[in-house]
Amino acid sequence: MTNRTMDGHRARKRFGQNFLHDEQVISGIVAAVFPKPQQHLIEIGPGLAALTRPILERADHLHVVELDRDLAARLENDPTMAGKITVHRNDALKFDFTALARQLDGKLRVFGNLPYNISTPLIFHLLSALDVIDDMHFMLQKEVVDRMAAGPGSKTFGRLSVMVQQCCKVTPVLEVPPHSFTPAPKVDSAVVRLEPYEHPPYPVADRALLNHVCHTAFHQRRKTLRNNLKELISADTLEQLGINPADRPEVRSVEDFVKITNWLAEHSSNDEAH
Ligand code: SAH
Repeated sequence: MTNRTMDGHRARKRFGQNFLHDEQVISGIVAAVFPKPQQHLIEIGPGLAALTRPILERADHLHVVELDRDLAARLENDPTMAGKITVHRNDALKFDFTALARQLDGKLRVFGNLPYNISTPLIFHLLSALDVIDDMHFMLQKEVVDRMAAGPGSKTFGRLSVMVQQCCKVTPVLEVPPHSFTPAPKVDSAVVRLEPYEHPPYPVADRALLNHVCHTAFHQRRKTLRNNLKELISADTLEQLGINPADRPEVRSVEDFVKITNWLAEHSSNDEAH
C-alpha cells in the first residue's frame, strides 16, 4: 500500500488527508449536495479536487479553503478550473465564513470531505456562523455522524447530538467504506446533511451555556442527572422542569437540556444550588 495518489501527491497525515477515488461515492455526494449555478458554494479541504470538479460541472463558481500550500497551488494553477474557483489558503478552523457571506451578499452552502482530526472543532466553528449558512454536507467518521444523529436513549446520544440537533436538522446521507479513499482510513465514514433551522423547535437563550450544561450533564454518563448537575441546578428544580433527577443524561431529550439551560439563563444571579 502506498500513500501516493495517482496524481503523485504524497498524502500528509497531519492534514488528515484521505483522498476520495470511488466514483460511485463521489456522484452520491454530488447528488446529495445538488449544486446549482448562482449558489454560494464553499468547499473545505478540496485536496486533489475529487469533489471540486464534478461540483463545478453543475455550479458556475466555487470557493475553496485549503490549508496545504502544495494542494492550494495545484488548484490555483489548474487550467481546467481557472476563473471558476477562488482558493482561500487558510485554516478552515480560522476561516471567517460570516465575512465571506457578507462579501458574496448571500448565504453559504458548505461541503467537504473533512480532515477527521479537526472535524468536531470545525463543526462547532461552523455552528457559530449558522445565520450565514444555508446547509452543510460533510464526510465524517461514521461514529461522529452516528453521534450527531442519535436520539435520546441511544448509547451515542450526548453533547454533540444536543448541540447539533438544537440548531440543525440532521440527515445521514451515505455510508462510505475505507477502501473508497487513498490512503484508506482505519474507520468507516459517512456523509451527513445539516440544515440550520430558521426557527429552532427549542430556542435556547445561550448556546455557550447549553454547551456547558451538556458537558456537565454527560460528564459521567453512568451517573444520574442529579449527580452530574449538582453544582448547577438542584434536584427540586429539575423536578419542577418535569425532568426526573434520577435519570441518566442520555435518556433526556434536546428539549430537556434546552429547558435546563434557559432556566439557568433566567436565574443566573440566583445561586440556588449552594
Ligand atoms: N476533498 C478531497 C480531500 C479530502 S482530504 C477528497 O475528497 O479527496 C482532507 C483535505 O482537507 C486535504 O486536502 C487537507 O489538506 C485539507 N485540510 C486539512 N486540514 C485543513 C484545515 N485546517 N483547513 C483547510 N483544509 C484542511
